[in-house]
Amino acid sequence: MSDVTPQTTGAGQGDDWSLFRNRQVPQMVRLDVALEHGAYQGLKKALAEYTPEQVTQIVIDASLLGRGGAGFPAGRKWSFIPKAPGQKYLTVNADESEPGTFSNRELMETDPHQLIEGIALCCYAVGISQAFIYIRGEYVYAADQLDRAIAEARAGGYLGPNILGSDYSLEVFVFRGAGAYICGEESALLESIEGNRPMPRSRPPFPAVVGLYGRPTVINNVETICNVPRIVFKGADWYKTLGTPTSPGTKVYSISGHVRRPGNYELPLGTTLRELIYEHAGGVPGDRAVKAVLPSGAAAPWIPGDQLDLPLDYDNPKKVGTILGSASVIVMDETVSIPHATLRLTEFFRHESCGKCTPCREGTMWLEKTMERICAGEGVPGDLDLLIDVCSKINGRVLCALGDFAVSPIQSSLKFFRHEYEALIPGLAPVREPELVAADK
Ligand code: SF4
Repeated sequence: MSDVTPQTTGAGQGDDWSLFRNRQVPQMVRLDVALEHGAYQGLKKALAEYTPEQVTQIVIDASLLGRGGAGFPAGRKWSFIPKAPGQKYLTVNADESEPGTFSNRELMETDPHQLIEGIALCCYAVGISQAFIYIRGEYVYAADQLDRAIAEARAGGYLGPNILGSDYSLEVFVFRGAGAYICGEESALLESIEGNRPMPRSRPPFPAVVGLYGRPTVINNVETICNVPRIVFKGADWYKTLGTPTSPGTKVYSISGHVRRPGNYELPLGTTLRELIYEHAGGVPGDRAVKAVLPSGAAAPWIPGDQLDLPLDYDNPKKVGTILGSASVIVMDETVSIPHATLRLTEFFRHESCGKCTPCREGTMWLEKTMERICAGEGVPGDLDLLIDVCSKINGRVLCALGDFAVSPIQSSLKFFRHEYEALIPGLAPVREPELVAADK
């Protein structure tokens, strides 16, 4: 597509509320440059003015919802960690394995000290002395930036023993994963750090009680943690002036697919799909119509193209049967065959299933086989009912969310685009009137 321009400088550039306010500043990895641009102001303020409990309360008051997908309140998650002395951990989930998601990558590459400051604030609030950043192995540049920034922050007294002359100490380590979708699942991620095969754990117990190396563990996404410094520095009331009453703050929307300017756009939560696609991402190449949108990579149900006025926050997508998730928005125009696009997603989940539970391991394989024969024009009339039946045998009967993610594109595409499947199946395709067939000749 010749009229597509990759975009990395969306809304938020230069705004003092933006996580990307420094994205164009050269050498932000250097501590001296980062300090010139306001880094570690929130940490200084917290160590000088706030107790750990007060920092947690500020984040609770800000109603910061986890940006990794689940949208669970971050401050409440921190408050679940037992207060008793002993080793506790923070693990930052930087695996970013959802197809179409690339916001964390840019946050880490362009402003690593913002993430490190957020980690220090979270760990101070919860009483943690060791933190891990679990980053996917393909993010070599981002991991190198983090390693360098951590070393400089430690040398400068912002990490390590007695941070900024206080009695608080913290060490941060970067852990590079080997690459698997399932490592983005929080308990599989912990298994991976421990050196085990990354298969999700049965819960309870939850990581807040039994997490990394059996100790209480906070697990937060990169974007969630990056929000913490500005919340602590500017206050919860300021933060809640952004976004909507129930979804405060901003979200980095990663938009790709059939748009002229794919990229990361940080916008207030509640921005509509239409504004995101047409005002920020430049609209659809060739001015074609939007047929459907995946709002959260491969994992969320489809949104049909007649629902572009949907506000993208943590509430409204649920009303139409989908989720905001990681807000990795993939746009598909009117030229796309929805069954064929859904087959790609099904292949992905079959490949990434860890195989621990039978409904997911076997079910994703059968979904793929059935979708393949439908898309090859070799389906039979009972195949659509078969797909629905297999989905129902997976949904809610598995250990982790991957199983549910695998069925949602199929279930929702059958709801909104069943006619496209029927058109591919001999015996279900609509029979055209003889005179229309003759007119085509
Ligand atoms: Fe593994 Fe799938 Fe079970 Fe998740 S649902 S634990 S990916 S087999």
